[in-house]
Amino acid sequence: MRTISHFFDGKAAPFSGERTGEVFNPALGVPQARVDMADAAVLDAAVERAKAAQPAWAALNPQRRARVFFNLKALIERDMQELAELLASEHGKVVSDAKGDIQRGLDVVEFVCGIPHLLKGEYTEGAGPKIDVYSMRQPLGVVAGITPFNFPAMIPLWMMAPAIACGNAFILKPSERDPSVPVKLAELMKEAGLPDNILQVVHGDKIVVDAILDNPGVKAVSFVGSSDIAHYVYQRGVAAGKRMQCMGGAKNHGIVMPDADLDQAVADILGAAYGSAGERCMALPVVVPVGEATADALRARLIPEIEKLRVGIQTDADAHYGPVVSAQHKARIENYIQMGVDEGAELVIDGRGFSLQGYEDGYFLAPSLFDRVTPAMKTYTDEIFGPVLQMVRSQSLDEAIGLASRHQYGNGVAIFTRNGEAAREFAQQVEVGMVGINVPIPVPVSYHSFGGWKRSGFGDMNQYGMDGVRFYTRVKTVTQRWPSGDGGIVDQSFVIPTMK
Ligand code: NAD
Repeated sequence: MRTISHFFDGKAAPFSGERTGEVFNPALGVPQARVDMADAAVLDAAVERAKAAQPAWAALNPQRRARVFFNLKALIERDMQELAELLASEHGKVVSDAKGDIQRGLDVVEFVCGIPHLLKGEYTEGAGPKIDVYSMRQPLGVVAGITPFNFPAMIPLWMMAPAIACGNAFILKPSERDPSVPVKLAELMKEAGLPDNILQVVHGDKIVVDAILDNPGVKAVSFVGSSDIAHYVYQRGVAAGKRMQCMGGAKNHGIVMPDADLDQAVADILGAAYGSAGERCMALPVVVPVGEATADALRARLIPEIEKLRVGIQTDADAHYGPVVSAQHKARIENYIQMGVDEGAELVIDGRGFSLQGYEDGYFLAPSLFDRVTPAMKTYTDEIFGPVLQMVRSQSLDEAIGLASRHQYGNGVAIFTRNGEAAREFAQQVEVGMVGINVPIPVPVSYHSFGGWKRSGFGDMNQYGMDGVRFYTRVKTVTQRWPSGDGGIVDQSFVIPTMK
């Protein structure tokens, strides 16, 4: 069986095999690789290598650091097909969707190609008599990123591209469920010209995550995953004095107004609810029609379209989505479907019991649709993270805004309407970090930034964009004066200096 090992000194480390995890092919339901799982000693050694390598990388002028990312862009484009197939084979998403995962990370690589400009500081000439003030952004040193299974290319690139471009050394701890693409990205970074140990990949689970959080040499940690773990990681990291940025789970609502373009809204909701088998933090698993007539019309249009959706293996070019990531996750989603029935929601379409010929052991689920879901239900408040769409009927825009605003998660939200005033009101009022107006998956472009509110994000800086640059640097401000030294009046003061 294929083995996946840590990556340091510019190459894959020898496979230790001491403590390993299994990496499955979700379409077949069988393990396809074994991955090494690090302990604290492995992590501590990675931090020491990173500390030794980082000063020389930070001392390179930013234009030369940027050139590594120009090269990386070309290499990722060269290997796009191979990367997408590898990603899909471990994650379960279809290959076309895997390319989107890589492309979204590539967008951040393109953004950091402008790092010389992004790092420019501020300057004030003559802030006082013969006094000038300037500020600069300096890297933190050694930083780390811990990433989830559902975007094994995009999310590592969200973190490592700005961190490294800013002059840090970066240790990536990817999800142990689909760790191959992160290692490939490290190999491509090496090929692009990155010096050894500026990027290392260390695989593992809670043991290595705790080691990252406890190692004083790691100055900042970026985490993306489920909310309980994000909160735990945030608290432990902050208690250790680190800069932390921890993104959590989601339950994004799509509000459908009576004046919405229903054909477009239905097409958008289908893709956003069921694409990637619903395993996206920016999926749209809750639809909130405003008014009974809108709800009935939407339901009538959704049902035949959902029944047409094709579930297939990752390389099936006609499949809308593939298997979910693991047997445990499939069972968890099925439990939530049963819970929804038991809680009294109407299960309009039941996706359980689906079997794909030739892939009977795969983790497939057909799409499910619930109607008459209420805010009191646990299936509404929890993140299901599967191909399950829940309809919550509301009677007014205010009620719909209140639903999204009061939910424990506040990652993304969308409104479908032709009414600019309603859309504007909605965008202003709703307590959610990323808003789509007739856009079902409002993931901001790489030169803005990504972040949810409430239990979807702990910490105060977003991923990528200028917040990425801010997160991975600290500001130093210099106040300088050059006395003439000609024996004139020497200025002395025992009061706090002011610029007079
Ligand atoms: P997860 O929380 O299980 O794992 C995330 C990371 O934490 C992994 O690297 C994992 O190894 C590590 N981990 C797991 N258990 C741990 C523990 N007890 N202590 C310390 N570390 C631990 O998440 P997942 O299942 O890989 O990913 C899906 C989740 O991520 C969903 O909740 C989804 O909404 C969320 N997500 C959020 C965003 C966002 O930007 N808000 C983006 C993508 C995914």
